[in-house]
Amino acid sequence: MEAKLKELRQKLEKQCQINQELQNENQDLASKLKEKEKLLEELQSQELSQRLSNDSVEVRQSRAAVMAPEPIPDDMDISTTRVKKTASERAQIINAMQKNDFLRRLDEEQISMMVELLTSLDRCPGDDIIKEGTEGDSMYIVAAGELQVTQAGRNLRTLTSGDVFGELAILYNCKRTASVKAVTAVKLWCIERQIYRSIMAIKSKKKREQLMGFLKTARTFKSLRDEQLSCIIDSMEEVKFQDNEVIVREGAEGDTFYIILKGEVEVTKKVNGQQKIIRKLGQGDYFGELALIREILRTATCIALGSVTCFAIDKEAFEETIPIESLELHDDTDLPEDTCTPKKNSSVSSLQLKDLIPVLYQEGRYQGSPVTLGLGGFGRVELVTTMQHGKYFALKKISKKLIVQKRQEEHVLFEKRLMLDIECDFIVRLHGTFKDSRYIYMVMDFCSGGEIWTKLKEVRRFEENVTVFVAACVVEAYAYLHKKDIMYRDLKPENLMLDSRGYVKLVDFGFAKKLRRGQKTYSFCGTPEYMAPEIIQNHGHDFAADFWSLGVLMYELLAGSPPFSSSEPQNIYAKILDGVIKYPPHMGEAARSLISKLCRPRPGQRLGNTKNGIKDVRNHRWFNSMNWHKLRMKQINAPTVKLIRKGPCYINFDRFPFEKSLAEEDFSGWDQDF
Ligand code: ATP
Ligand code: MG
Repeated sequence: MEAKLKELRQKLEKQCQINQELQNENQDLASKLKEKEKLLEELQSQELSQRLSNDSVEVRQSRAAVMAPEPIPDDMDISTTRVKKTASERAQIINAMQKNDFLRRLDEEQISMMVELLTSLDRCPGDDIIKEGTEGDSMYIVAAGELQVTQAGRNLRTLTSGDVFGELAILYNCKRTASVKAVTAVKLWCIERQIYRSIMAIKSKKKREQLMGFLKTARTFKSLRDEQLSCIIDSMEEVKFQDNEVIVREGAEGDTFYIILKGEVEVTKKVNGQQKIIRKLGQGDYFGELALIREILRTATCIALGSVTCFAIDKEAFEETIPIESLELHDDTDLPEDTCTPKKNSSVSSLQLKDLIPVLYQEGRYQGSPVTLGLGGFGRVELVTTMQHGKYFALKKISKKLIVQKRQEEHVLFEKRLMLDIECDFIVRLHGTFKDSRYIYMVMDFCSGGEIWTKLKEVRRFEENVTVFVAACVVEAYAYLHKKDIMYRDLKPENLMLDSRGYVKLVDFGFAKKLRRGQKTYSFCGTPEYMAPEIIQNHGHDFAADFWSLGVLMYELLAGSPPFSSSEPQNIYAKILDGVIKYPPHMGEAARSLISKLCRPRPGQRLGNTKNGIKDVRNHRWFNSMNWHKLRMKQINAPTVKLIRKGPCYINFDRFPFEKSLAEEDFSGWDQDF
């Protein structure tokens, strides 16, 4: 007995010794790993500062262009737009698309759709294909022949077979920046934006409906509402498997749920040491459901038969999307009622156009002419005052003819209705609207502190506490809007104004849209640098796109230029689709963490759009210093005040010459309800 005990003790001691050694080794490894990570980080930040100090880096110096949404026709006849192509023609087209930096980032389905839809076009030598300055509606791929690209009469380059041109036109209505002329007889592949976009929208919608149908058959999801299922879809990712690839292995830990979109999967199980086929799964079947609810070991093996495409979500992403205990989506309804304190300014409601008196520049080269506060894509904003109220207003004036030309009638009508209904301290107030034969007018509160954009350009980049404050105001405006089911869709420094106390207000609701929860919209709009990937991809977007742009805004304010930027819009889009964000060395860890969570490529995994909604954004540690209640009560001394200049009321604005020419008259009558 004694001997046995001794032997055991010795064994135990030996084991302890081994454990100790292992532990030491582990510590050693861990510290080595830390060192390596540190080194890597240093290297990265060195690389970035090099990149930032390099002249080739494009800091955004000019205001961003905006893309207005155009209505998508819903009566498009798809069947007639498909054109048969030979295998070699297809190969040539795909090759050309793969060579193009922007097109090759579109997803597989979009690429193959485009191949289907391209029509062929023959042109003679000397024919103009694209004219500089005109509006583009088609994209082209050269199948044969030679073309010349010119800009302001200068030859830029020659295009030959396999070259792509005019590709931005498939996204939005943009002005051509160069001309393209056929040198020889040419054969082109061509696609129109309206056709491409409507078909992509129809396809994306159908795909969502199909996925919805699949999810509805899963037992675990039986009790979920459509909007919750829609959230799950937003968090799911497409994964591809090759023939014979093991998707899940019996006995292994599992944390992912799969739905089969394409292909077949064989389910096998070990019975008495033999692998037995249990069944085959096909499109719409799912497996691994339990893995979302608890930790499990897989009870069977699933192998791809041929190539298989699945839609998948793992436990972690799922838990962020839907609270598992209740399987009920939390919708932030317990937000305190005073999020935005309404202040009805009833005395202003009697305002009339004739009462508005233009405020004039008191000095400088425009002395004596009316003050223009800003120019936008559609109009100009002037500073006015009234005898009765003795306060300033900003008067937005938009040419009716231009609205008709750009097909923005619906949007303008909507902007008015929407803004009249908004009462939030973090959003500019609209006091009334007017119209005459040339313009429509909107009378708003005057935000005398100027634009965040101007301030940013003055100081290059904001300190962290200033950025925290600005972003917090945006979060409050978002909370108000999203609760009313309104997406903003045009966040950028140009649309943020400071009031006299340095509080931030959103202006410009030209792109805002009302959307039911769980629904998607398919219009292409916003500002390139701020656009979420799902907008560029035509996958349908919703409130999550606003959180993406909040991440971009934080970055631009802290870094001085947005994370995805280039002088060429197609490069901006390519960078957004890549989704790689490089942080400047001076940017703090908490800010990086929040930005990366707001700019997650999958909308369903984006902070603000996960199960706790906007609360997760408020509770992120980057906002630790923010007292949200005091902010809502406007009891915080805004750190932005130091950016505001003192002097004449227009001192915080750029100066603009008076617009002498009047807009054309428009009697088409679209503005009856304005
Ligand atoms: P966009 O091209 O961005 O759609 P827009 O024509 O719709 O522009 P806004 O963005 O609303 O116009 O306004 C243009 C500019 O006018 C703003 O960037 C800002 O400088 C100024 N501005 C707008 N509203 C106000 C306001 N309430 N107080 C002071 N300045 C304002
Ligand atoms: Mg604007």
